[in-house]
Amino acid sequence: MSLPPHQHPLDAPTEHQVLNPATEEVVATVPAASAADVDAAVARAAAAQRAWAAAAPADRARLLRRFATVVDEHREELARLEVTEAGHTVGNARWEAGNVRDLLDFAAGGVERLSGRQIPVPGGLDVTYLEPLGVVGVIAPWNFPMPIAAWGAAPALAAGNAVLLKPAETTPLTALRLAELALAAGLPEHLFQVLPGAGPVAGTALVEHPDVAKIVFTGSTKVGKQIMAACARHVKRVTLELGGKSPNIVFADADVEAAAAAAPMSFLDNTGQDCCARTRILVQRSVYDRFMELLEPAVKEVAVGDPADEATQMGPLISRVQLDRVRSYVTDDLETIRGSAPDGPGFWFPPTVVTGVDPAAPVAAEEVFGPVAVVLPFEDEADAVRLANATEYGLSGSIWTRDVGRALRLSRAVAAGNLSVNSHSSVRYWTPFGGFKQSGLGRELGPDALTAFTETKNVFISTEA
Ligand code: NAD
Repeated sequence: MSLPPHQHPLDAPTEHQVLNPATEEVVATVPAASAADVDAAVARAAAAQRAWAAAAPADRARLLRRFATVVDEHREELARLEVTEAGHTVGNARWEAGNVRDLLDFAAGGVERLSGRQIPVPGGLDVTYLEPLGVVGVIAPWNFPMPIAAWGAAPALAAGNAVLLKPAETTPLTALRLAELALAAGLPEHLFQVLPGAGPVAGTALVEHPDVAKIVFTGSTKVGKQIMAACARHVKRVTLELGGKSPNIVFADADVEAAAAAAPMSFLDNTGQDCCARTRILVQRSVYDRFMELLEPAVKEVAVGDPADEATQMGPLISRVQLDRVRSYVTDDLETIRGSAPDGPGFWFPPTVVTGVDPAAPVAAEEVFGPVAVVLPFEDEADAVRLANATEYGLSGSIWTRDVGRALRLSRAVAAGNLSVNSHSSVRYWTPFGGFKQSGLGRELGPDALTAFTETKNVFISTEA
């Protein structure tokens, strides 16, 4: 990708170094887009979008399917890039590249099905159209760079929009490669552009640009609130996928062995840098001791190390900033169970379980975004619901019980967008995903994924004239 000449504020970086978080080696240097670069990209995207929206639906669908095929052909390369720039385990990274392929296929299947309605009215015909929005800005975080880029980009493109993707400063490489693969697949030039750059420069330029119709933001609640306020000035459409502090509720009537066996990877996957991580393990007091006996060896057995090794279950944190942040939560006075982590270069932190803390303590209440969970006892169902909901977040959660009635009651009572019973699954590209409360606004994925990138237009045609 070539970027036009840069004009940066004096203090903004003109390029970003990409580090391998497992070794701290510099693996690439990427130019940072300025506000002027964003302006030029928006103008190019707007022109490309008009032609794209006018193309036959079957042609758009075919091109998106071809894009999916090209991604599939480069799955291993994309996965290795994700291992290198984000420290993801290679197994996870392969899944992530496959998720991009699947999203593109799924979205392609919606192009010819994106139909409006015919509504009975007197004196004429009333129809609705689902019009594309125009140019959509996708601002992605570093924790799942590839899937989150595709969750926004694939349905937006399928619904007839152009997409400008701003990846996180630390993880631009897979996004840049996806833009090249889109062109190789035959997508029109400028329809899907990647603008690596600083959040406050390139991100802000996208948010403030009058010709960007919608922002899809995934990241911290703090930045999400700023973006929502900025979008309000333009009445710009916005989807927010923000933080989480999700509960994993284990009742005495559950299969406690299965719950304890599944608990470690529910907060250690992606080194805990997962907005859905089940970082508050709530255990009914009558089985608390048994659960802890089972949890301790399970946490210590997790294989932490080189993310490129097929046997590794957990890699490093993304950066030194994130490592310092995680360390600041796990103070020496806390009771902990700890697994192992490599010494030497790389941003390593061991799997950690904290016990004996107050639910209001920072480690129990705030999003740590690292391999750290707390275990808190509860008395009964009402107490479990109270504790589960005692948070500003509401993204995910798990409920472990063999009582069907209780599972149904809890799945209604817990205020979160994505719940699972006797499992920790929460993300499938064909089911809706998003948060309650300060975990977000709007939904991605699922049957309505494309509709979120359209505006409904109602047209009445008189038969009286
Ligand atoms: P972040 O908010 O710091 O950055 C996210 C993106 O926003 C980056 O691309 C960044 O460059 C950009 N940005 C930063 N400041 C900006 C500004 N002022 N204007 C425009 N763009 C700006 O978040 P992060 O640390 O990269 O990601 C981690 C966070 O993401 C966690 O809180 C996590 O829970 C959340 N997350 C949520 C979901 C979800 O679906 N709900 C999924 C993944 C991650």
